[in-house]
Amino acid sequence: MAEKGKTIHLEVITPDAAVLQEDVEFVLVRALDGDLGIMPNHAPLIASLRIAPLFYDKNGQRKCLSVAAGFLEINDNVMTVISPAAELPRAIDVKRAQSAKERAEKRLNDNHGDIDVERAKLAMQRALCRLHVANEYTE
Ligand code: ATP
Repeated sequence: MAEKGKTIHLEVITPDAAVLQEDVEFVLVRALDGDLGIMPNHAPLIASLRIAPLFYDKNGQRKCLSVAAGFLEINDNVMTVISPAAELPRAIDVKRAQSAKERAEKRLNDNHGDIDVERAKLAMQRALCRLHVANEYTE
């Protein structure tokens, strides 16, 4: 467990990997109902997440990773994020995200009623989120 009072232990887990395991001072996530700022020793909580950057502060430095929905659980000063896909900035393939964005754009623009619009919009959100995280953050 993280040191009481100063940090919360943040774990981000996907089907492929444990993407992040850090003691951090603050976490900002986008839940279905809106943004949630999480301080150490937060009350127990479960919430669903949107496709969005997850921000966290480590040693006073703001860091970020891309999280493609999922959910979070907070218990006993441990925050666990379980997501179908999450990437640190350095793990993001910008070319791949750009191609995914262009594919989704084309699908949405050429839509003659025969595409799954919701699926294309979600693909677009994932691509935009990855591009934002990769362009704004380095680590
Ligand atoms: P694509 O069409 O390029 O596969 P996608 O949004 O459909 O994009 P996901 O289904 O969200 O991809 O992710 C599938 C796997 O590929 C996950 O493990 C995810 O972390 C990884 N991934 C997807 N896009 C990227 C990227 N641009 N850079 C690094 N990893 C990626």
